[in-house]
Amino acid sequence: MISVDEAQAAVLGRVPTLAMETVALGASLSRVLRAPIVSDRDLPPFNRSAMDGFAVRAADAPGAGARLRVTGEIRAGAWPERAVGAREAMRIMTGAPVPEGADAVIQVERTKMAETARVGEPEVVLEAGVTAGQNIVPRGSEAKAGVVLVREGIRIGAAHLAVLASVGVIEPVVSQRPRVAVIVTGDEIVGPGTRPSAAQIRNANGPALLAAVHEAGGVASDFGIVSDDPAKTREAIARSLGGGYDAIVLSGGVSAGDFDFVEAALGELGVTLHVTAVRVKPGAPFVFGTRGATLVFGLPGNPVSAQVTFELFVRPALLKMQGASAFLRPGLEGILDGPLNNRSNRRNYLPVLVSRGEDGLHAQPIRTQGSGDTVAHSLANALAFLEPDRTSAAAGDRVPLYPLSSFLEV
Ligand code: AMP
Ligand code: MG
Repeated sequence: MISVDEAQAAVLGRVPTLAMETVALGASLSRVLRAPIVSDRDLPPFNRSAMDGFAVRAADAPGAGARLRVTGEIRAGAWPERAVGAREAMRIMTGAPVPEGADAVIQVERTKMAETARVGEPEVVLEAGVTAGQNIVPRGSEAKAGVVLVREGIRIGAAHLAVLASVGVIEPVVSQRPRVAVIVTGDEIVGPGTRPSAAQIRNANGPALLAAVHEAGGVASDFGIVSDDPAKTREAIARSLGGGYDAIVLSGGVSAGDFDFVEAALGELGVTLHVTAVRVKPGAPFVFGTRGATLVFGLPGNPVSAQVTFELFVRPALLKMQGASAFLRPGLEGILDGPLNNRSNRRNYLPVLVSRGEDGLHAQPIRTQGSGDTVAHSLANALAFLEPDRTSAAAGDRVPLYPLSSFLEV
């Protein structure tokens, strides 16, 4: 058996990089950017007023009480028709270009219009002094034209869409999405919409793995449930191998039971196995192989084992395949609020609920019956893990945490 880190390296070292394509901006959410986004103009493109107020010359208003002639108005989207001269002001709106001559904007709330003798020549009284640069965002201060705003390898989020739109990128270059076949095995497994007989189990892994592929940016194809029969197992895997998929994810049939046929079928179909067992709990029977550029993952059937091994090995591979620079979850640490035990000689991942405390992250252990306990796993937003030589951890101890995708949703 190899360690989790060794198995991860064995997988990640064999991940090819997918081709690129362009997509419409609106369809680029969650896609991995493959060409840097470069600013086509200075941001902001002009000296921008950050307030509704008056564009003035700071030298005219060192203290409160300055009275200035108002010579015009600049709305957002309009270019100033004139400059601001000495003892002059122009009404200006948030987002409008600051006119020549002006070097500050005073908020409208700090001004009042003066009673003027002559109609058509309004004056404004400034109720506060003004300093140069006040309430102006200088041209290019956010970014200069030509600089990289979003690096390749970033997975595009809503905030990135704002940047792409700002610089006119309507068709970003992204990675193709990995195409992934999901095959579930097991005589006892029936679809979730089928009434199970007393000894049957509803298919938890199919829906979970299809969703996990989607979350990792892939396009999943549902190959359904295959019974524990060597020929049928071989046939389904052969069909998926011939389907041009980037990865094949199998659930079940990788243990040492009399009806576990996946590993043998993979060998017969020319899949080279690189990992056949991992020092991890849950998930020790995890299998990984390749045929050509196709990655083949055999996940144990226990639903928590399947989800944990997907997290540890499949998700990083799918992200790396897309050129994502962050394909591993960040390593965190937290303080345990209750004891945890590791009764295996493997790295043991245990469900916890992490929350923020005054002294940092706290991890509340979730009672679990083990690798079949989908409910306990669904309550977790992270997994705490104990190394093989750490048989227990007590309340108050610090433990490493592996955040799950629900981690940020607390
Ligand atoms: P296996 O890895 O095939 O030996 O399965 C291990 C355990 O996981 C057994 O108790 C199976 O009934 C259960 N199991 C396997 N596949 C699924 C599935 N798709 N959904 C729910 N439970 C499963
Ligand atoms: Mg089985």
